[in-house]
Amino acid sequence: MTDKTLIEPDVGFVKEIIGLGGDTLKKCFQCATCSVVCPISPDTKPFPRKEMIAASWGLKDRLVSNLDIWLCHYCGDCTSNCPRGAKPGEVLGAVRSYAIADYAVPPVDGFNNQGGVLWRIINAKIRILHLITKPLVKAVNDPKMLPVLFAVPVVLFIVLGLITGLLDFSPPLGEKGIAHHLFFSTWLVDIIFVPLVFFWIFPIFTIGLLRFIKDIHENAVLEGKTDKNEIEYFGLIKGLIRVIPSILKQDKFKDCTENKDRDTAHWMVFLSFIGLFIVTNIFFVALYGLHIEGPYSQLNPVKWLANISGIALIIGAALMIYNRLKKTDQTSTYKDWYLLGLVLGLGITGMLTEMTRLGGLAGLTYFMYFIHLVFVFNLFAFLPFSKLAHLVYRTVAMAYNEYSGRK
Ligand code: SF4
Ligand code: SF4
Repeated sequence: MTDKTLIEPDVGFVKEIIGLGGDTLKKCFQCATCSVVCPISPDTKPFPRKEMIAASWGLKDRLVSNLDIWLCHYCGDCTSNCPRGAKPGEVLGAVRSYAIADYAVPPVDGFNNQGGVLWRIINAKIRILHLITKPLVKAVNDPKMLPVLFAVPVVLFIVLGLITGLLDFSPPLGEKGIAHHLFFSTWLVDIIFVPLVFFWIFPIFTIGLLRFIKDIHENAVLEGKTDKNEIEYFGLIKGLIRVIPSILKQDKFKDCTENKDRDTAHWMVFLSFIGLFIVTNIFFVALYGLHIEGPYSQLNPVKWLANISGIALIIGAALMIYNRLKKTDQTSTYKDWYLLGLVLGLGITGMLTEMTRLGGLAGLTYFMYFIHLVFVFNLFAFLPFSKLAHLVYRTVAMAYNEYSGRK
């Protein structure tokens, strides 16, 4: 007797994928050209054809927990060669957006298999995160909510600054002239951003990634992509270490034909974020460990790294926007522009803050610094829900791919 598999299409999921930029998915007639031309797809169980079939059937669980949607680097070769205009690259991008939103909202039942006071506290915190993150996922993908997303940090900074007295709207000149910390105290920056990292971004990603790793592993076992039955986290970390050089070089983009020019822009933005991360940490250690306060001399090598990273961020983001505008056959959605706008805004406001300070324009430089921090807040507070989260999920997926020996 033949085995029967019950398939339950999720029509709501199909509609969501269409709304997220995958509106062409129903055009696919499963010719497999996309899987053949994809330069990144493996020989065994190649993508994206099987994902196109799953998407048109609304097989949400098969797609959201599918490792392969993250191995795709959206180079667009499949989209350009698809004879039906089904745009598989865009469909996979839409599925990734759906997955990011899904993993950003902690499940309401938390870790329901644990007992004890500590686990009850953790579960309570997970439920609170669930309540807050659910509307935020929608807000980040809704252009009408953009003013609200920017108003949140403005109000927060002013209210907290006035309550604590750490925001001074008419600051004196420091020993070295204009100093931003006399306007917006470094303490105020830390009071806002340190909890943001440790009590917001970190727990959301931790809960999301634990689910994500479990899901992609179960899916890989189900689809016969791996021989490993259990996940060994130490092996996964070793896999991560092995893929780091590839991630730093962004060499997967070099395999692409159609969007090869994305390589440079992507690489510039990626490295500039790393550069700015290093600079921020050095300044943090210098301030609290060595009690050295800014502003720093332009001759300081850390300042060079900051300036080079800032310029690279602006050029990289501008190139990304140019490349998207140039590719009229590829779909760009609100979430793409939201992220690109944030990255470009972050770079421009950062450099303008610096230039207006050097130009001695006190009022203007304080204003630019405030706006710059609003952009920083937006980028980080909404990181788990925005497209930028792909950095985290793709990195983990590549590590899992390496660890699991994806067939
Ligand atoms: S997405 Fe296009 S290329 Fe891929 S299987 Fe469908 S019709 Fe063929
Ligand atoms: S967008 Fe590029 S990497 Fe992704 S499936 Fe298509 S060809 Fe492959």
